[in-house]
Amino acid sequence: MPDLGAMQDWSLVVTHLVDHAAREHGTREIVTRWADGSQTRTDWAGIRRDALKMKQALESCGIRKGDRIATLAMNHARHLVSWYGAVGAGGILHTINPRLFEDQLEYIANHAEDRVLLYDAAFKPLVEKMKPLWTTIEQYICYDDGEFESWIGAEDGDTDWADVDERDPCMLCYTSGTTGNPKGVLYEHRSTMLHALSGMQPHAFDFDASTVMLPVVPMFHAASWGLPWTGAAAGVKFVFSAVNEPEVLCNLMTEEKVTDSAGVPTVWLGIFQYCDANDLPLPKLATATIGGSAAPRFMIERLMKNGTRVAHAWGMTETSPIGTVGAPTHDWAEKSFDEKVSIVAMQGRPVFGVELRTVELDDMATELPRDGRTSGALQIRGPWVVKRYFKAEEDATNVDGWFDTGDVGIIHPDGTLQLTDRTKDVIKSGGEWISSVELENAAAGHPAVAEAAAIGMAHPKWDERPVLFVVRKPGTNVTGEELRAFLTGHVAKWWLPDAIEFIDEIPHTATGKISKKDLRSRFSDYVLEDA
Ligand code: ADP
Repeated sequence: MPDLGAMQDWSLVVTHLVDHAAREHGTREIVTRWADGSQTRTDWAGIRRDALKMKQALESCGIRKGDRIATLAMNHARHLVSWYGAVGAGGILHTINPRLFEDQLEYIANHAEDRVLLYDAAFKPLVEKMKPLWTTIEQYICYDDGEFESWIGAEDGDTDWADVDERDPCMLCYTSGTTGNPKGVLYEHRSTMLHALSGMQPHAFDFDASTVMLPVVPMFHAASWGLPWTGAAAGVKFVFSAVNEPEVLCNLMTEEKVTDSAGVPTVWLGIFQYCDANDLPLPKLATATIGGSAAPRFMIERLMKNGTRVAHAWGMTETSPIGTVGAPTHDWAEKSFDEKVSIVAMQGRPVFGVELRTVELDDMATELPRDGRTSGALQIRGPWVVKRYFKAEEDATNVDGWFDTGDVGIIHPDGTLQLTDRTKDVIKSGGEWISSVELENAAAGHPAVAEAAAIGMAHPKWDERPVLFVVRKPGTNVTGEELRAFLTGHVAKWWLPDAIEFIDEIPHTATGKISKKDLRSRFSDYVLEDA
């Protein structure tokens, strides 16, 4: 091929993000409200300066390219410094979720072969307990009590980022593993950069110069939805809180004039409850991103009535995590409020960069129509979707590069994704599928129901039939018959549970989702009456 000219090599390494933020938005503030109630302020230039010092400090500890540097920490400026410091040293940042069970914590740090661990003083007891079990960690650095500051303070920051390739790994996140051991997902510089840029789409986080973002989604969960990377590209002002109490969050939102926030539904629920109990208005946010599990309708309605755009997002650790985000449709102005809420209650449309499809649950291969009616197993592919789990022998994708999400959903003609279940939880009755999630949502609409979980129980004639486990709200005494009558108006007759069992508590995973695996094992001896 003759030399026809060329474009420059500017590899997609994520340190470009903090370089850009420091250069173009250097004085944009990064505020932290610490666990002890104190507050500190730095800016993007300060984050970069400290990250360069941390890179030197890691080198002084003997960290080499590809080594894993773990964090066990909440959201704060030092954690942000560590993200860039670790990758800037050529290392792989491994954010550990402190809410995991101890056997999982033991497994993932050893499996990752972490060499350094940076942790919050709040997790000191946990760290002390785990130390004898963690076999590869050589150095422990506490973020508090001046330890982190003096560790990086010994360096001058007069250095450059380590030389890495854009296809080199930069970050490792483990899924919480509802079955078997947690699995590591290894993000590359390139995949992370592309994902960060996708987050800038108006359809996604829609950041601009005036954005003040308080990410409640922890930096240890699914890369905090990529916010520490995307926020740097846009130069947003970050407001971090090392505690997730609704009172602290609400005060920060008001005091720091927060425009955007992001968190799982429980976070918003906590904020509602706090504001109601104290007769306070909800904070005035421009955008609330909700994901991790389905945002309930009442939550969307309330936020929208408060003038907040609800960006309902779907994704998973395996997808870096952004897959879809809800955004106004082209005919938004013509929609009624209720129609808008119904659209937002679905999981949004794919951001540019990923492709989605649904396939038959029976063969996991036959592609289904995008007709807004047919549900099937959801698959995804794209440059920030996992190809192979960390240290796994085989690819996690099929021959065409599709990754099975484990979710079940419907794709609408305009590309909107509507999740209906998980493949493991969907109930097969007489060759037809019953959505456990829709049954649960219908039951949750009853005023006496605090929480409900539906699972399929073996049935000789129908294969499986649904059984609904219900936790009553305190002081209520709804009966199975009453609940069945209530459900009759809300779901198809053949979906009605064969039995309704009232229990004190429904088991949850470390990330707060209903653990059907634990529920199933608790009721492994359960036999349906007519079975
Ligand atoms: P975990 O929390 O189990 O560690 P992830 O955070 O990766 O793992 O969870 C991803 C899963 O969470 C998705 O596969 C999906 O089932 C669920 N999920 C994420 N966002 C939504 C949403 N907006 N609505 C419904 N379910 C969601």
